[in-house]
Amino acid sequence: MDALPNKTFTALIVLTLLWFLEGWIPFFSEFNQSGKRLPHAWKNLAVGAFNALVLGGLFAGTMVLLVTKAQGAGFGLLIWLGLPTWLEIPLAILIFDAWMYLWHRMNHIVPFFWRFHQVHHSDPRMDVTSAVRFHPGEIALSFLARFIVVPLLGVTLWELALYESVLLPVILLHHSNVDLSDRADAALRWVIVSPNMHRIHHSDLQPETDSNYSSVFSWWDRMFRSYRKREDYRAIRYGLENLTDSKWHTLKGILETPFRRNEK
Ligand SMILES: [Zn+2]
Ligand SMILES: [Zn+2]
Repeated sequence: MDALPNKTFTALIVLTLLWFLEGWIPFFSEFNQSGKRLPHAWKNLAVGAFNALVLGGLFAGTMVLLVTKAQGAGFGLLIWLGLPTWLEIPLAILIFDAWMYLWHRMNHIVPFFWRFHQVHHSDPRMDVTSAVRFHPGEIALSFLARFIVVPLLGVTLWELALYESVLLPVILLHHSNVDLSDRADAALRWVIVSPNMHRIHHSDLQPETDSNYSSVFSWWDRMFRSYRKREDYRAIRYGLENLTDSKWHTLKGILETPFRRNEK
């Protein structure tokens, strides 16, 4: 298979472009008050960089080993199906995106997973840097789950890398504070998760938080009845009601959030 463009490099370019677009055409213009963007951004970027460089590096070797072994042994759903490559690749992308939907939904349902995932939701502002705000515990858990799911599905390393090359720009876009027109957002939503669709997921109203779980393709929410729209996207308030205190938004607070008492 052909080499894919370096996904981290591509993600950094997309992140930088969206950062400038947010400064130019913001959805919530109050986020751009002078001196407000960087103090918010650096903490999200710091946990994101730690997850990508340290955890990504730690777990990548095991993933390569497991997938190589499984593929060598002819193990995995997509291998058993024996489809031609032109059909297997889009199917692998689709199946893996469905897994991401299921995993995300489980993160909202299972209290132990939610402890970690709430760090993503507690962000009182949402911009492109929120796309990488995940507690290292959530990233570790998701890798452990992938160690089982990827070989079971028979997804190859190349297909996994392709999926991530699509995923990263899409999640950066739908977290960004860029003001797309309503028409453009509605058009995007037919295929991928648009900014307005994901804004609902970051709302502080719980029925809205517990909706719109899709990562790349928006279809899973429509299919599994978790899709939500609303009239006025500008009235959305981000964050979690029980995590508004500023102490949860320091780097220390972000890392300690899963271990606090009085959990949902
Ligand atoms: Zn979520
Ligand atoms: Zn999000």
